[in-house]
Amino acid sequence: MESLEQTEQSLTSSTEEPTLPAAPPEKLTRKQLGQLRRQYLTITHGTVKACEHKARFSKDHDPKNNCVDCWSAYFATSVDLDFIHTVLTTKGVKALVAMKGTKFVRMFHGFISSQLLPALAAETTVKPQDEAPATIIGGTFDTTDALRGETDTVPAGIGTSATS
Ligand SMILES: [Zn+2]
Repeated sequence: MESLEQTEQSLTSSTEEPTLPAAPPEKLTRKQLGQLRRQYLTITHGTVKACEHKARFSKDHDPKNNCVDCWSAYFATSVDLDFIHTVLTTKGVKALVAMKGTKFVRMFHGFISSQLLPALAAETTVKPQDEAPATIIGGTFDTTDALRGETDTVPAGIGTSATS
């Protein structure tokens, strides 16, 4: 801590305030993911708010169910999304599958496409140019809905071209 005198000096000499060096945009969303994580803190008292399931997951344990809300809460609170993103962009989907398993990746895909990306889009109008969008081919959260025979209500050409 500086003395009062020094503080006054630095104040009067104006630009003493160190402007934080603009860190090079480190992959798309370090900051944005942090915001999202807070935004999606959806667990209260060990229960996922959205579905009222017990939050039976932790940093090292995936949810055992297929509940989208549970997985979303899991991704939002217990998963290092920045790390996952790094793996995806630097090593690819296969590497992530090898590390986390197919279910994780499938659920992650659903998470980013149904929640993360829209949230990011809403939050930032300016897109970082150096962002390499991570793409995962395969399942989405919508799969089960499609299997319920509701397919005729789905507008043709709805978004992604799932070819699996
Ligand atoms: Zn749930």
